[in-house]
Amino acid sequence: MTATGHCLCGAVSFTAEDVETDIHTCHCSMCRRWAGGPGFAAGVGSVQFSGEELITRYDSSAWAERGFCSRCGSNLFYRLKDANHYILQMGTFDDQSSFKVSGEIYIDEKPAGYDLAGDHPRMTGEEFMASLQQNDS
Ligand SMILES: [Zn+2]
Ligand SMILES: [Zn+2]
Repeated sequence: MTATGHCLCGAVSFTAEDVETDIHTCHCSMCRRWAGGPGFAAGVGSVQFSGEELITRYDSSAWAERGFCSRCGSNLFYRLKDANHYILQMGTFDDQSSFKVSGEIYIDEKPAGYDLAGDHPRMTGEEFMASLQQNDS
């Protein structure tokens, strides 16, 4: 699926290819602090930005960075640096009707005050990291 989106002020927009409609929700403390709530994001095969000069990139870990619009503050993406893999914030897409939560990660860090409905896998941070290592081998 190809999809378009933009930040709140419209200065940054994008066209993304191979957009995954199955999304994972991340409850880790970093995503919640960054997004103000759990992270809802969709992996994409590639993305072209317009207004790239307004994107500020923050190195949030050794392996990933997070980008946001420096004018309006909208969170745009999480990027795995080595793989150059972009995971775009669901809320920035123009049409969000086909996205579906297919799993939750870092369920052990989720605050007790909310739960997401639905019958899908829920992994702890430890289980999630172990699942990544299996994919590498
Ligand atoms: Zn903006
Ligand atoms: Zn997270």
